[in-house]
Amino acid sequence: MTNSLLPVKDAHRQAFNAINTPDRLLLGPGPSNAHPTVLEALSRTPIGHLDPLYVELMGEVQELLRYAWQTDNRLTLPMSGTGSAAMEATLANTVEPGDTVLVAVKGYFGLRLADMAGRYRATVKTIEKPWGEWFSLEELEAALIEHKPAILALVHAETSTGVCQPMDGVGDLCRKHDCLLLLDTVTSLGGVPLYIDEWKVDLAYSCSQKGLSCPPGLGPFTMGPRAEAKMATRSGKVPNWYLDVSLLNQYWGSDRVYHHTAPVNMNFGMREALRLLAEEGLDQAWARHRRNAERLWSGLERQGLSMHVPEELRLPTLTTVRIPDGVDGKAFSQHLLNTHGIEVGGGLGSLAGKIWRIGLMGYNSTPENVDRLLNLFETELPRFSGSVAAAA
Ligand SMILES: *Cc1c(COP(=O)(O)O)cnc(C)c1O
Repeated sequence: MTNSLLPVKDAHRQAFNAINTPDRLLLGPGPSNAHPTVLEALSRTPIGHLDPLYVELMGEVQELLRYAWQTDNRLTLPMSGTGSAAMEATLANTVEPGDTVLVAVKGYFGLRLADMAGRYRATVKTIEKPWGEWFSLEELEAALIEHKPAILALVHAETSTGVCQPMDGVGDLCRKHDCLLLLDTVTSLGGVPLYIDEWKVDLAYSCSQKGLSCPPGLGPFTMGPRAEAKMATRSGKVPNWYLDVSLLNQYWGSDRVYHHTAPVNMNFGMREALRLLAEEGLDQAWARHRRNAERLWSGLERQGLSMHVPEELRLPTLTTVRIPDGVDGKAFSQHLLNTHGIEVGGGLGSLAGKIWRIGLMGYNSTPENVDRLLNLFETELPRFSGSVAAAA
């Protein structure tokens, strides 16, 4: 028996032109521009995902991720997927139905963590702060005492608000109250001081496309010994096959057992991105992000604009700027994109229409980019004053 040949339908056979995307300067909340060396690595001929050379490269990616995160965690690897996949992996592997997960919500990504934890049938508790604020140790401890969670989930760099959550003492609190500390480091890894082991963080995740100068596609993940111990006592299987770290570790660890075909070119890119970060040095990269962010802040303030977050808690990687009264913020950002090829972001949730979000991440954190943007704010923003009234 054979399958009979049928006529091929041409309904969706459209003759599109070859891809021709412009070179934008991505100064929004992510993705940011990839380093040219990373782009070259991505376009190399793939090699087999079990090729000994690839296996060696996997180990290099893991070592460099440990450096970037300042951790010795054995289970440190990039999930095949974006930051949200790695976020989901932290919860999928550790949450058992009925576990209390306490999420400290001070922006959009805290809400996403709470949503995900619920899908793994956690009893989700939240404490909330207005978008643009952060949690004190006293507030966190009061909530730990009240809810007695198995996991406290916190966003280090809240990309929706531009706040960097202070981490001193949070890990000790979690040990004292016997819960795991889960930290979103998506917009901090590579750009903001971050010490997974010193801070006693048990679970963390990030992405490839923000501070690491790589396109979107991988989600770095790390799990420490206390989280491993919790995973080891699970009564059931991890309810997500693709993100099950014990299966993934049979590929990333010593056995090299096939799990899924690794996105090998993405890992080529990640290796180069991390190699460049190590070559620069973490402390140098952090200082560069800080320097360029301060240049942006003082330039915008000189023009009379104000920042949404007080300086001591401002994220160097993502600046939130208040849109002046009377200005149609979206019209200005569309103008920057359409006329100048520069992307900046708008506000989410309660900050929609109130702020711009300016990212200076990884390869994009340079004084030249800051000056280019400041110059456009100075020369072209005045034309948009009164644009809200005009639009109405
Ligand atoms: C971007 C971002 C995410 C989600 O990452 P994706 O790569 O978009 O899936 C999660 N948390 C924070 C804080 C982010 O900024």
